[in-house]
Amino acid sequence: MSSKLLTDAKRVVIKIGSALLVDEQNGTVHRKWLETLAADVARLKLNGKDVILVSSGAIAVGRRYLGLPDGHLKLEDKQAAAATGQIRLAHAYQEVLGHHDLIVAQMLVTLEDTENRRRYLNARNTLNAILRRGGVPLINENDTVATDEIRFGDNDRLAARIAAMSGTDLLVLLSDIDGLYTADPGQDDTAQHVSEITEITPEIDAMAGGSKTAHGSGGMVTKLAAAKICLMNGCAMVITKGDAQFPLKRLEDGEKASWFIPSTTPAKARKCWIAGSLQTSGTLVLDDGALQALKNGKSLLPIGVAKIEGTFDKGDAVILKDSAGLELARGLSSYSSGDAQKIIGKKSAEIEALLGYRGRDELIHRDDLAMTESKT
Ligand code: GLU
Repeated sequence: MSSKLLTDAKRVVIKIGSALLVDEQNGTVHRKWLETLAADVARLKLNGKDVILVSSGAIAVGRRYLGLPDGHLKLEDKQAAAATGQIRLAHAYQEVLGHHDLIVAQMLVTLEDTENRRRYLNARNTLNAILRRGGVPLINENDTVATDEIRFGDNDRLAARIAAMSGTDLLVLLSDIDGLYTADPGQDDTAQHVSEITEITPEIDAMAGGSKTAHGSGGMVTKLAAAKICLMNGCAMVITKGDAQFPLKRLEDGEKASWFIPSTTPAKARKCWIAGSLQTSGTLVLDDGALQALKNGKSLLPIGVAKIEGTFDKGDAVILKDSAGLELARGLSSYSSGDAQKIIGKKSAEIEALLGYRGRDELIHRDDLAMTESKT
């Protein structure tokens, strides 16, 4: 059964829509519900899972404090509402998760943070650092600085990007609708619920129509866009109606939902992406020890690199070759070519003294490495 995807997941992103969290009439947070969500999160954490929350609701909570009217707001008013709402939202999460001794770490991100390679890597490293220390990242779009042309605008796609960025196995969209239907169930009696999807075909796309809810920005269209990002990255996704208490427990117990099931894993999808579709901007020539380490699935340390060719930035893709010029692998460099030049052939413990800052021990971490066919 598909709910096993939640039971088996090691890392889960949970997206909470505004409509679930915020009272439509008075803009207050549904505290009781949020407490049950926190209990669910605590249970998942106890079961050894990493949990990342992507929560909407900043604008919906904030608008009444600034006396803004109901209905559609101008961009700057939305941004002002988000600025005051986000504090209250984060505080509510901090309180309810604090009851379970969980630490919340707020990250506000923009579209650019997920698209620009360096910023992407930075955000990813921060996210991983929070998770490693047992924290619960609480993410929203940085609404106060994102203008219309450069914003996500909806947290469905933002959550999918975060899931892809963090190698997550499952994205849970807690929504005000229990999944995908063959037609709009509000308008068409023959509409059928679709419980499992393995591919977003044009027929599936056509089912989404253009539905929207009052509070959130995302309708089914943005949810399918999120599903595409997830499936491409080996992450499963589920849309479920999350308004009842303990929404994740209910999902585990088989609550009605639409499950999007990928044909690959996050790790394989990432390796495929690194191996296949990246433009490389430099080459590292390895010594025999490093070759062996790589073949054994280890990271590439500076000491194993004999020579560097080309100019690249931190985060750029490079080709790894042996001394005869045969390509063995591709990977994302943790250092720019300038800095890499200074540390190759040296022990990782010397990095700080050589560069004046403490970077990663690995020149290329094994998660950022993919073995490739020899292509010379
Ligand atoms: N970032 C917006 C907020 O927190 C919500 C975006 C959405 O509704 O998906 O208010």
